Amino acid sequence: MKVLSIYGKFGDSQLLIGEQIGNLKKYLPDRKIIVITDTNLNRLYGNRFSQFPVIVVEAGEKTKTLETLSFIISRLIELGADRHSFLVGIGGGVVCDITGFVASVFMRGIDFGFVSTSLLSQVDASVGGKNGVNFLSYKNIIGTFNQPQFVICDTEMLQTLPPEEIRSGFGEIIKHALIADEELFAEIIDNQQNILAFNQSFFTDLVYRNVQIKATIVNRDEKESGERKKLNFGHTLGHAIEKHSDLSHGEAISIGMMFSAHLSAKKGYISQQDVEKIKMLLNNLGLPTSTNIDRKKLADAITKDKKRNSDFIDFVMIKKIGEAIVERISIDELKTDILNYE
Ligand SMILES: [Zn+2]
Repeated sequence: MKVLSIYGKFGDSQLLIGEQIGNLKKYLPDRKIIVITDTNLNRLYGNRFSQFPVIVVEAGEKTKTLETLSFIISRLIELGADRHSFLVGIGGGVVCDITGFVASVFMRGIDFGFVSTSLLSQVDASVGGKNGVNFLSYKNIIGTFNQPQFVICDTEMLQTLPPEEIRSGFGEIIKHALIADEELFAEIIDNQQNILAFNQSFFTDLVYRNVQIKATIVNRDEKESGERKKLNFGHTLGHAIEKHSDLSHGEAISIGMMFSAHLSAKKGYISQQDVEKIKMLLNNLGLPTSTNIDRKKLADAITKDKKRNSDFIDFVMIKKIGEAIVERISIDELKTDILNYE
């Protein structure tokens, strides 16, 4: 097991990579513990945490609503939770997002931790202290910054994931490589056999390096006033695609990253050869790199992006593979680029 830390404004977070769910008890305080999980995880792993009261929510992004928040809070009251209770979210991004949010607002905030179970949540969603729910068609528009006390990334649990979830996780992994780690990019190209065969030690190392990239950025800029913006690479168009398709988050940002790579080349930062290299890797990992969603719909969705700043948006491009650059681009320019994007 390897340990990394995030030093948040309101508390520190220990990231335990390669730790096992079976050791969860070691990290829990001697207080009332309540587990929040989803239907899939409860079916597969429920026997590993049956000693605690469990609140089960439906699996999937549609669960990230204020209605689910109300449901969980009424269950917490029924279970006699108080200010000293401790919540453990066991699941992927959705469970971690909603558990972090409930813990932040219930009784003005109680302590919490995660067992992060999907590749996407291990390398991204459960690390960094962002949480929240969706509202109307707006993703994560209600939420807080609040660090869990611990995040257990049990890489053994990745083995039970369906292939599409592994693919989705690779969307964020490639993102991290493109914005911060050229070597990681090359290693993923060289290790496609280990990926296909699910070599666990390879995956543990991969999760560790991704958490390291994310933790380093979050430690420099917890509240996203500067450097953390780099983590939005591919996400401006990615979120618009997610809104207008059934693609997973990783698939949507894969297409978004291709668009950002294309703009990076247009601005003269990277070569057309680099663009092709990125495209080939994403395709080899089974990720899509284009879409036939109506460009006008996508351009319109950009104007609703919560990261925008009146008529401008801080758009992330890459200066080279392994280094990001954030540039203020006018919404009009971006819309034109999207309308003309092949
Ligand atoms: Zn993302």
